[in-house]
Amino acid sequence: MNSLDDIWKMLMQSLSTQLTPTAITTWFSDCSPVELEEYRLVIRTTTQFKKKIITERFASSIKASLSELFSCDFDLLVLVGEEEYIKGEENPTDGPFPEMAGYTFDNFIVGNSNKFAHAAAISVAENPGKAYNPLFIYGNSGLGKTHLLMAIGHSIHERFPEKKISYIKGDDFTNDLVNSIKEGKTLEFRTKHRNVDLFLVDDIQFIAGKQSTQIEFFHTFNSIYEAGNQIVITSDRPPMEMSLLDDRLRTRFEGGLMADIAPPDLETRMAIARNKATRLGLLLPDEIIEYIAASITANVRQLEGVIKRLTAYRDILNDDITKESVDRAIEDVTRNGTDIPNPDNIIRETAKYFSLKPEDLKGNNRSREIAIPRQISMYLLRQLTNLSLNDIGKELGRNHTTALSSIRKIEEMMRTDSEMTGVIRDITSNITTSSGSN
Ligand code: ADP
Ligand code: MG
Repeated sequence: MNSLDDIWKMLMQSLSTQLTPTAITTWFSDCSPVELEEYRLVIRTTTQFKKKIITERFASSIKASLSELFSCDFDLLVLVGEEEYIKGEENPTDGPFPEMAGYTFDNFIVGNSNKFAHAAAISVAENPGKAYNPLFIYGNSGLGKTHLLMAIGHSIHERFPEKKISYIKGDDFTNDLVNSIKEGKTLEFRTKHRNVDLFLVDDIQFIAGKQSTQIEFFHTFNSIYEAGNQIVITSDRPPMEMSLLDDRLRTRFEGGLMADIAPPDLETRMAIARNKATRLGLLLPDEIIEYIAASITANVRQLEGVIKRLTAYRDILNDDITKESVDRAIEDVTRNGTDIPNPDNIIRETAKYFSLKPEDLKGNNRSREIAIPRQISMYLLRQLTNLSLNDIGKELGRNHTTALSSIRKIEEMMRTDSEMTGVIRDITSNITTSSGSN
């Protein structure tokens, strides 16, 4: 099955209901699909003139058809003749931080379980500091809290590129603080964290119980809040259920808007599965989508995990998607109750990719050929697990400062070097494919 061609056929069919047959032949008969990326369709035509007409007259119909077919939004890029396509360039959804890539409102499927949180996030993004402050989003793991938090960051960055945005995970706030105290740099810490227009705090539950962190956070919160700047917080539970939370903080959190996200209903799960599959270029029959959505009920991350595995089976094993392969993917994803790969596996796959041994990454050799893979493994541990910086450092026999600077280094390289982005993508896919088998 060639998904790209299938998608193209479906698109043409859908366009033929809006355009005359002559228009279709004139403008699209020598047009071909090049690539369906997560966020855009790339097509090729023969002349500059055709490109102009397609972009000016037909782009909106094409986008509307894609959106109708797959319930998600795509950009359209038209190439002419032999023009080369460079993957991933000018991706409009990259956002202010590399980890925000892809987490946009466009990609967020709205259903009953999340529509309140979604609407609240949209208002905050449209009216930062004015609509609801703070916005406190809570719910179980894997239901889209981080996605919404980052979508707010994205949207504000897009419209107000000059605004200073800070994104921090609860446990990083603690680590950063502890470190700054050790190094006598608390003033820098304060300037850095208090001086922002938008403060995004992910998984605040990690600061509960840590007294000095809570006090510092309280002051950070007040200073941002009083300057009229926006704060958005996520947590796995509501403030009143965070038993070790300082009362002053609880009052602050409850003083804004609280929005919870519940597990999605069947219909929403199907929409999410279909959307994710399409973005990965996988065209799944309705009954398979329904089967997946009926099997995975409590966690969107797992739902995505199943789709990613199916894509990998198709790409790597060249398997057709059958009920059996779906069952296998579901079993893989649900076996540990989570879709979080284990750290050894991440280190092993990273080493393997560079023809090294895990021991090399954990050892002391600082040559570039080993240092970069080591940094990549730390970056991936950060991306794919819930480990704290400290634990990430420990996995590689390093401390948490080294872990942080390694991660930043890779993020920086990904910003400037599309090859690095490709490497990261490849290793990630190796990890997610192999993690069921260890
Ligand atoms: P949480 O932070 O609540 O643990 P995430 O925001 O990390 O969850 O979501 C887990 C995965 O599921 C992410 O890849 C996210 O993009 C995806 N996801 C969650 N909810 C939705 C949704 N409504 N539409 C599309 N993708 C979703
Ligand atoms: Mg999260």
